[in-house]
Amino acid sequence: MERTLLIIKPDATERNLIGHIVYRLERAGFRVVNMRMEQLTEVRAREFYAVHEGKPFLDSLVSFMVSGPVVPMELERENAISSLRELIGATNPKDAACGTIRQEIARDIEKNSVHASDSPENAKKEIAFFFE
Ligand code: ATP
Ligand code: MG
Repeated sequence: MERTLLIIKPDATERNLIGHIVYRLERAGFRVVNMRMEQLTEVRAREFYAVHEGKPFLDSLVSFMVSGPVVPMELERENAISSLRELIGATNPKDAACGTIRQEIARDIEKNSVHASDSPENAKKEIAFFFE
């Protein structure tokens, strides 16, 4: 069993898609082991996205992430990290495979509805960021 972190982003909470996303995750075999709603501050959003320091999209991404509440959740499943990345689909919904969450509900490359940890190291860090 492995654990990973998913965040429902503000574009999805705004459109009342929390239940839809949780349903899709549970249907794919993920167990929700921790979940809450948070209004990120700019300081916390920048800290979370520190890996993107210097990228041209960072300021806009931070504004978007504080524009409404987010729902971080800790998920458990076999191969949770790689299976969740597969289930959410490519960063840009235009490139996301059919049947993925982003292909179905994301608006664009920035407002792409969900975040998922991309490695065991980041999963550990990101779970601690929200749940410790
Ligand atoms: P996430 O980290 O949210 O799971 P990801 O790993 O698919 O997404 P990253 O490259 O880590 O993508 O980018 C983090 C987030 O920054 C993306 O999910 C998206 O919201 C935003 N982003 C990434 N690239 C761009 C871009 N070129 N233009 C605008 N926003 C972008
Ligand atoms: Mg990423």
